[in-house]
Amino acid sequence: MKSHFGQYGGMYVPEMLIPALQRLAGEYEKARKDKAFLKEFEDLLKNYVGRPSPLIFAKNLTKKLNGAKIYLKNEGANLSGAHKINHCIGQALIAKRLGKTRLIAETGAGQHGVATATVAAKFGFSCTIYMGEVDMDRQRPNVFLMEQLGAKVVPVLHGSRTLKDAVNAAIKDYLENSENTHYLLGSILGPHPFPTMNRDFQSIVGKEIRKQLKTTEKRLPDYVIACVGGGSNAIGAFYTFLKEKSVNLIGVEAGGKGLEVGKHASRFKGGTVGVIEGYKSYFLQDSDGQMQKTHSISAGLDYPGIGPELALLHDKGRIEFISATDSEAVSALKLLAKTEGIICALESAHAVAHAIKLAPKLSKEKIIVVNLSGRGDKDIFILAKAFKDKNFYEFIKREAEEGVIAYE
Ligand SMILES: *Cc1c(COP(=O)(O)O)cnc(C)c1O
Repeated sequence: MKSHFGQYGGMYVPEMLIPALQRLAGEYEKARKDKAFLKEFEDLLKNYVGRPSPLIFAKNLTKKLNGAKIYLKNEGANLSGAHKINHCIGQALIAKRLGKTRLIAETGAGQHGVATATVAAKFGFSCTIYMGEVDMDRQRPNVFLMEQLGAKVVPVLHGSRTLKDAVNAAIKDYLENSENTHYLLGSILGPHPFPTMNRDFQSIVGKEIRKQLKTTEKRLPDYVIACVGGGSNAIGAFYTFLKEKSVNLIGVEAGGKGLEVGKHASRFKGGTVGVIEGYKSYFLQDSDGQMQKTHSISAGLDYPGIGPELALLHDKGRIEFISATDSEAVSALKLLAKTEGIICALESAHAVAHAIKLAPKLSKEKIIVVNLSGRGDKDIFILAKAFKDKNFYEFIKREAEEGVIAYE
């Protein structure tokens, strides 16, 4: 198993962490060839997560756009509402093989924390989630969910009290406790073996797309489109098609409010190559190599780094990377909801936004598959704000008042 993708990737961590990561890589190397392991993983995906997730022909949206046929791969149908559960289950099984009893993770908006707490509950791990104090205040519903799942959510009180400080707190914990603790990384980034391991666990998504489309259309798609935060849902959908020259692969980054520093998270537009958080890739960084501020309406895309394998596939020209803005994503979400009855996550809406631009330019024989990485329930507070829904806020106010009375 290689630790690099061309010049990208690697294991750029404090020396003290190398033995733990090498043990993890060694165990994963064995597991990926172990039929019993693969069978247990597949069984859990089927009978716990609810896979395969449906591939839906978006008949109404296709008709409206009057161009290529659009299919939607609905990862939002999974347990806990997104693709993240796929690599969380895989890593939980590896942690079990290593005899670990505890899972830790950091989380920004809380989605990765919820998925980690879910598998901790299922497999009987104790679980600690690090979260910046600012993020805890902003994302109370997810903190509540993690706690109901049995996790301890630890506020991080130093630095900017956001995601990168939570990463540092989790790394410190791992340095001290790697004997009994597995650090569950939430995308195809970080040091080796996480990018490879999570990619393998997510590649089920593309394999299902291939099989499902073969049944309905008897052929490969012409385009597969996915949103790109760290890159796990994108590589999951793309991986099986990398060798199929006829399949165009498009990654959609967060264009935010525009391409000035701090207003977006488009690593391939404003980023440069560097080494941060244990791996070499493209980062939105300043001249001192410190991460820059990013912005996206969707928390899952609001991150300055990107998976090293995607960096290589970008350089090779195999994947085209473009961006969609906050407002394009919100419009796409609205159109998808009204035409297909699916409220997708704001992250996924970035991929939908590009399909809406692309489909009318293509002939009706062409096929686009859009990976809907998650469902939109988690975004109701943000959406209510974006749509200036007064009734929603009056409801919250009333609920809050009643809550205070119950609390007293
Ligand atoms: C976390 C998340 C993402 C971004 O992560 P990737 O690793 O880029 O897939 C995208 N969509 C949803 C719904 C998420 O929860």
